[in-house]
Amino acid sequence: APRVVVAGETLIDFLPDREGPLQSVESFSRRAGGAPANVAVALSHLDETPAFSTRVGDDPFGDFLVERLSEAGLDAEFVQRDPDAKTSLAFVALGEEADRGFSFYRDRTADTRMEPGAVPGATLDAAEWVHVGGVTLADEPSRAATFDLMRRGREAGATVSFDPNARPELWDEFDFGDSVAEAFELADVVKATPEDLAELDYGDDPESTARAILADGPHTVFLTLGGEGSLVATTAESPWASEETVVSHGGYEVDPVDTTGAGDAFTAGVVAALVEGESLSETLAFANAVAAVTTTAAGAMTALPGREAVRRFREES
Ligand code: ATP
Repeated sequence: APRVVVAGETLIDFLPDREGPLQSVESFSRRAGGAPANVAVALSHLDETPAFSTRVGDDPFGDFLVERLSEAGLDAEFVQRDPDAKTSLAFVALGEEADRGFSFYRDRTADTRMEPGAVPGATLDAAEWVHVGGVTLADEPSRAATFDLMRRGREAGATVSFDPNARPELWDEFDFGDSVAEAFELADVVKATPEDLAELDYGDDPESTARAILADGPHTVFLTLGGEGSLVATTAESPWASEETVVSHGGYEVDPVDTTGAGDAFTAGVVAALVEGESLSETLAFANAVAAVTTTAAGAMTALPGREAVRRFREES
């Protein structure tokens, strides 16, 4: 049985054929995406194939995503098809001027209709780790499904991790800040970028941001810092530290082609290392290497490395 359960949206990222604002882009390429889907596929590449619970439409884009997930070795048992809803689409803008703009087609799509109870109790009982993200908190019933899975994961004794994945355009019915605070309370581990929380009151440098998150509930917080690498901060309750600690790793030198999904690859690296019992400093180095390799090709799932590729990359860096 899988040691890891991941749940959340799978969608199509339409990547632009050029940099700049969306209105100036003429053509796009279709890529499988969605932060939790990226994490799940990255974990499979690292030989830690999770149970990935998701929901896509009964439409051609859903067919495409189901095929991609199955190619990655993910069990179709946890992939629901929604006969009454479409698959989510996201058009992405790249480049400095565009500042990672998005246009989402995500109105009552299949992923927003994920339901509580989709992950069987037996799957959770066998799991050591449950990972979810913030996007499914923006709509019901996927919001209830996400909180429910976090609670059931805790009750089953798994480590529960959460990535806020801030996408301000997706939030209207619920408040992003309140929702994130509620999720932090249910999480053992949080992975975020300082930008995710920029609009909220979580400090203005990485270390104080990590401390502010720890004060909300989790015992361990990972922050990714783009080309600067990442850090992890813990309370004394963290199973991976005997006291309050901050460890950082400066990352690896690469020529990034596309950083979409780098944060998700990082999350997969963290989970894969920690379930293997690695230390926090080895976990940071490993996850930074997984993420750095991922930036070397366009598309979140294109350049996901296996363990051997990570080992070689670290040796050569
Ligand atoms: P995304 O939202 O695009 O998935 P993110 O904003 O969540 O990414 P970042 O902090 O940009 O996450 O990057 C995650 C990790 O990827 C970093 O911690 C680092 O290990 C690696 N990374 C990102 N950009 C670079 C870069 N330019 N050079 C080397 N490594 C990078």
